Amino acid sequence: MSTLLFSPDALTERLETLVPELTEARHDIHKHPELGFEETRTQAKIKAWLESLGYEPCVSAQTGLVADVRPDLGTPTLALRADIDCLPMHEHTDLPYRSVHDGKAHKCGHDGHTAVLMGVAKLLSEKRDALPANVRLLFQPAEEGVRGGGAKVMVAEGALEGVKEVYALHNWPGYPHGEVRVRAGTMMAATAEFEVTVTGVGGHGSQPQHCRDPIVAAAGIVSALQTVVSRGISSEGGAVVSVCQFHGGTANNVIPDEVRLSGTIRTFDPAVTEVVFDRIREVVRGSASTFGVQAQVEIHPDYPVLVNDAECTAAVERVATAIVGPDNVTSDELPMAGGEDFAYMAQAIPAAYFFVGTGNDELTSPVCHHPDFDFADSIIPLAVRMFMGLVEDRL
Ligand SMILES: [Zn+2]
Ligand SMILES: [Zn+2]
Repeated sequence: MSTLLFSPDALTERLETLVPELTEARHDIHKHPELGFEETRTQAKIKAWLESLGYEPCVSAQTGLVADVRPDLGTPTLALRADIDCLPMHEHTDLPYRSVHDGKAHKCGHDGHTAVLMGVAKLLSEKRDALPANVRLLFQPAEEGVRGGGAKVMVAEGALEGVKEVYALHNWPGYPHGEVRVRAGTMMAATAEFEVTVTGVGGHGSQPQHCRDPIVAAAGIVSALQTVVSRGISSEGGAVVSVCQFHGGTANNVIPDEVRLSGTIRTFDPAVTEVVFDRIREVVRGSASTFGVQAQVEIHPDYPVLVNDAECTAAVERVATAIVGPDNVTSDELPMAGGEDFAYMAQAIPAAYFFVGTGNDELTSPVCHHPDFDFADSIIPLAVRMFMGLVEDRL
């Protein structure tokens, strides 16, 4: 049985005054971006907002916050999560609220996710007495590329203990504006990084016969790595192995001693992950011996596969269908090869993660992690509605 906290009309009216407030908060967070586990200003801002609404937030994962709407009603029925960290990159926009910290920018829209959950916090606080059960709000630090992300720390610190379900959303400019995309089962990839150090024998560029050229060997390794996926796993497997860095050499007439390669691995199934890891090690070892050089491989598993629970996914689909209509709720292009540390939360308890499309008509909006990206404020009302709808559906 669902509990209606706001009638659709009442929520529309309430959002008229709330959305400008959230947009202002979003711009302020955007202007002062903070990297994972350094989000002290962001944390203080959220804390002040929550305390002004009668919450008693607790610190979690150093720079994160956990806040219960009705702690007097015991363990929460559901939790909602927003990530709050920025990326280590430059902002190229001339927005009035552009980043004031060189080399740090909100280029994944976590500023928007934070503002949306702040909005939900406000709406829930206004209906506190009407809530039949507790709801937990998770403001999570360090989603971006920090090994063992903030979600893992929050889970380890017990932020989900006793909680029945957890939900999270992500804006996505590659999907049409106002579309909700979700699927049960595998939703996002497992991620891992690999590093290969190729050690040969350097020397004069004119005397290759006296060298063991690590550049040629490394080039051979890059080519051979292309077969890990294409020849190593079945058509259903699905995996990505990308060499993204290739470093070696200091001068045009010197064959170097060493070349370093590194890149990323994305998989959707633990069995496939093992095969991919094994094949990378074999291919590097074999290629190195062909070229008469030494090669060392290090593979660092990062986030696990994000698996959406069937019942939680059905709830997201139900809520989204009521808001945006059945034509705008799809599982197209999913699972996605991106990684998400929300996967740790989904390992701990039933969970669903969904995308809210923010793309323009031509779908040419800069994607997340692009220097020109900016969170689409126009999606704030839908994102708030989705979380409020889930609260109403699940209580
Ligand atoms: Zn990101
Ligand atoms: Zn993100």
